[in-house]
Amino acid sequence: LFLCFQLAEGLIYQSWRDEAKELVDLVSKPHFMSFLFVHDSVAQRDFEPTLPPIPDDVLDSDEDTVKYVSLYKTKEPLGATIKRDRSTGAIVVARIMRGGAADKSGLIHEGDELKEVNGVSLEHKKPNEVLPLLDCSQGEVKFKIIPASSSGEMSPHKKKMFLRPLFDYDPLEDPAVPCKDAALVFKRGEVLQIVSMEDDTWWQACHLGDSGTRAGLIPSKQLHERLLILLLINILMTLCPNIASLFLAGLRRSFRLGRKSSWAREAARAKRWSTGIHRTFTAPTYIEVIPHYRNSTDRHRLVALVGPSGVGVSELKRRLLISDPDHYGVTVPYTTREKRKQEKDGVDYHFVSIHMFEEDILNQRFIEYGRHKAHYYGTSLDSVNRVMAEGKVCLLDVHPSKIKHVYTSEYKPYVVFVKPPRIEELRLTRRRAKFICDEENKNSVRIFSEEQFEDMIDSAETMENQCGHLFDKVIVNGDIAVAFRELKADLKRVEEADVQWIPAEWICPSSPTKARRSCGYLGGWI
Ligand code: 5GP
Repeated sequence: LFLCFQLAEGLIYQSWRDEAKELVDLVSKPHFMSFLFVHDSVAQRDFEPTLPPIPDDVLDSDEDTVKYVSLYKTKEPLGATIKRDRSTGAIVVARIMRGGAADKSGLIHEGDELKEVNGVSLEHKKPNEVLPLLDCSQGEVKFKIIPASSSGEMSPHKKKMFLRPLFDYDPLEDPAVPCKDAALVFKRGEVLQIVSMEDDTWWQACHLGDSGTRAGLIPSKQLHERLLILLLINILMTLCPNIASLFLAGLRRSFRLGRKSSWAREAARAKRWSTGIHRTFTAPTYIEVIPHYRNSTDRHRLVALVGPSGVGVSELKRRLLISDPDHYGVTVPYTTREKRKQEKDGVDYHFVSIHMFEEDILNQRFIEYGRHKAHYYGTSLDSVNRVMAEGKVCLLDVHPSKIKHVYTSEYKPYVVFVKPPRIEELRLTRRRAKFICDEENKNSVRIFSEEQFEDMIDSAETMENQCGHLFDKVIVNGDIAVAFRELKADLKRVEEADVQWIPAEWICPSSPTKARRSCGYLGGWI
């Protein structure tokens, strides 16, 4: 089956040949794929009975093999150093000192993970919180340990790997899965612990917290990318003649409705469609994530609210600010225009000269900037830092393409995508909002045309296609009160969570695996 994907991928470059077209058409037919799947299953002797679950009494709360070690401690230290592994948060043995009690016992080794000391769990503890537990012990000290050698099938340097999938997966809907019962169901945004990557096509993983259960198969990054490509090749080759009629149908509909600029709209739609295809070829499928344990002294994560114009990002930001002005803060933008009478420098804007603004552009101090009526306007990194230094949650409202400027461990952005609902609900909720505002005699309400609703939905789709991998949370803004409640509750949950799953690239930028090994550790001596 895998060879078949490779073949189809290779044939895309020959798509002008009728034979190539016919062959791709043949190999991507469901019954042909099922036939190959049966072949693969038999070839792999994949007809074992379903295994019963592992009995509870042999399961530790953690999946790995644990070891209990008793050492006799005098007033002298045990002769080992400990550190906190930044990527997993675990307390591990950093060094064993020659001739010390730990060394002589031969029972504790470098890289061993310490789970408990004298029955006290070390979970979420820092090395300096572990040291007193040992200082006050004399005589027998009991350790619960996960030996370094048994912490999974991953490479010896890389103890645990966590991935966040960027797509939903249900084996029941996947004709290519070798065994549906052995595969894992997962949803976009969940955290999966990878147990084995030995097979190029099917990795083994479990859901976070389920590591005591048997691992399941998930499509490897390579396989998922190939499946997407195959799907697209199939669509392209079989539906190409129909694309024109889809265009015409769209145009006819637009003319019927008497819309202006329908040509432009259809052209924009075609452009988005081809961008979507291009993105799919390069789409990220999984992101490596690592746990982050927030200290009470750490700055809050930056909250970036993104969404198409008119969807309600500004209103949600305003409501958050009003709901807790001591907790949330917003940046003050910079501008080169004249200060108006009622405005205050540093409150409404930072008013600066054109020269200063242009110098800041050159020095890359702006997250984003633009021109309006011959004046510059922009949001600087400094202004974000100022809000964060006040101990507040900084709410940033920018185009998702600008997030890259703050997509670092310094800001740890939590990105919320505000999405429009379906057009029927848009019509209902936006017109109802207008009605309520009219009743209260407020004129500031925005009235949307049918085209603006469509543009909002199209532009949301483009944002999702191009930047979806950056979104931590998607909130559909139908009823603004409901969306606000959901947003507020979600931000609270994220702030209060013991562990935050952040992209590994924030900590180890270029090569997560290589750099992770050289990440700093917080150390201690036991
Ligand atoms: P005003 O001069 O009336 O205060 O604002 C004029 C325009 O500048 C508004 O459309 C406003 O949205 C835009 N603007 C204000 N701050 C910023 C900013 O930080 N960046 C960008 N790109 N535009 C801004």
